[in-house]
Amino acid sequence: MAQQDENILKKVVSHAKEYGFIFPSSEIYDGLSAVYDYGQNGVELKNNIKEYWWQFMTRMHSNIVGIDSAIFMHPTIWKASGHVDAFNDPMIDNKDSKKRYRADVLIEDAVAKMEEKIDKEVEKAAKRFGESFDKAMFVQTNGRVLEYLKKINETNARLKAAMNNNDMADLKQLVVDLEITDPVSGSKNWTDARQFNLMFSTDMGSIAEEANKIYLRPETAQGIFVNFLNVQKTGRMKVPFGIAQIGKAFRNEIVARQFIFRMRDFEQMEMQFFVKPGEEMKWYEYWKENRMKWHQALGLGKEKYRFHDHLNLAHYANAACDIQFEFPMGFKELEGIHSRTDFDLKSHEKFSGKKLQYFDSEDNQNFVPYVVETSVGLDRMFLSVLSSAYTEEKLEDGSERIVLKIPPPLAPSKVAILPLIKKDGLPEKAEAIMNSLRFDFQCYYEDKDTIGKRYRRMDAIGTPFCLTIDHQTLQDETITIRYRDSMKQDRVKVDEVHKLLEKECAIKNLLRVI
Ligand code: ATP
Repeated sequence: MAQQDENILKKVVSHAKEYGFIFPSSEIYDGLSAVYDYGQNGVELKNNIKEYWWQFMTRMHSNIVGIDSAIFMHPTIWKASGHVDAFNDPMIDNKDSKKRYRADVLIEDAVAKMEEKIDKEVEKAAKRFGESFDKAMFVQTNGRVLEYLKKINETNARLKAAMNNNDMADLKQLVVDLEITDPVSGSKNWTDARQFNLMFSTDMGSIAEEANKIYLRPETAQGIFVNFLNVQKTGRMKVPFGIAQIGKAFRNEIVARQFIFRMRDFEQMEMQFFVKPGEEMKWYEYWKENRMKWHQALGLGKEKYRFHDHLNLAHYANAACDIQFEFPMGFKELEGIHSRTDFDLKSHEKFSGKKLQYFDSEDNQNFVPYVVETSVGLDRMFLSVLSSAYTEEKLEDGSERIVLKIPPPLAPSKVAILPLIKKDGLPEKAEAIMNSLRFDFQCYYEDKDTIGKRYRRMDAIGTPFCLTIDHQTLQDETITIRYRDSMKQDRVKVDEVHKLLEKECAIKNLLRVI
């Protein structure tokens, strides 16, 4: 990670704490690694992200319904899903720094560095050749670029084979051959690579014995699969249809050093879409495009998203890609889109002895549906919004401000109600205005400090609109509205405010443009 980007992440982390978005868990006991609590502003932003996802998935698609399944499930579910045997990550330790890493991630990062070098070569050449530059031709013929490409392809092929064959020795060898150094110590002194299962377990009931061992779910998806027939039958759902769920998931992550990007206790927003066998690729493409549109409608910048195809398909998938986002630490996975075949339902049929089939009345036949999954981390969504919203600005008068340019429909508070002074009937008027708005918008009432200081505080928590109530308001029912991003101020009629807020802040306006 470049120094400057690392600084941005640090600043976002400390801003999030200072302004009540995210606190380290159990802070008074020195925290708990990779576990965080959401504060008074964080929970509002998080709820708004959930709302945006839930409304899009369930309300905007009449063939998708939601559920809320329990975190604890029958332990055999995790045998059937493959998690007990295969939900592993390869870990490797650096003997000098004593830091632990995921071997596959170290290798992927090395590949990303080679890709960056190619980009730099292209950039340099583009400058040198000006308008006559032919990028495709350059990439196909430049010696240095071809060398990098060859190395990238060889590395990817070896990584894929090592992961598929569970070949920990070659994974270690790859780290050695690529001359990967520990980002902390710069050392190349690595241990062997070993597999590590990421599931947390606990005991159910009063007697701790093997039969009572249960797991904290590492994904919400299995709660959907085991309820597939319940929902299909009671909801009279016809294939293709989807089941959506938002909920906690738990993973004992090997490396947990990137704030809320990689947590041990986190939330997922997942949807499983059940389709006719043979139609999964059509739906896979549909969901790739559809989910990308949902992300881009937020307006954080289209260039911040890209697709990344999986090289190492999970045991259940026949196609998979990520939507990556440009976080402060670079492009990283935000959402996964996976064509999971009929693996899960078939496996649950086998382990439970119950049929999980759909009767197609048109063809008069039973089949086990194929599944296309979309799975986005709620906390990663939060980080994508927070990190791209964080802006430091130098103002014309030489002063500086920090402003969170959060899309207004997601902002924790939509509007601040600010009586200019605490007397002359202004607080009463301000309260009356707030009472007319609070049914539809999260309002923030503030009467302390100068108006300038109050504006800055609202900038820092991303409140898109401030309403200042002054003496003129009492006379002519007008109010000063101040816009967060432009800092422009307008005088408007009090009864126009609701409409204006509605236009800018309603989630439905985002949904309309997707
Ligand atoms: P990664 O490769 O980063 O470990 P993954 O491929 O294991 O992620 P999935 O199993 O596809 O992730 O989970 C779906 C989504 O859940 C991810 O795209 C991510 O947004 C989120 N997610 C997964 N693990 C974590 C975590 N430890 N902390 C926060 N979010 C997570």
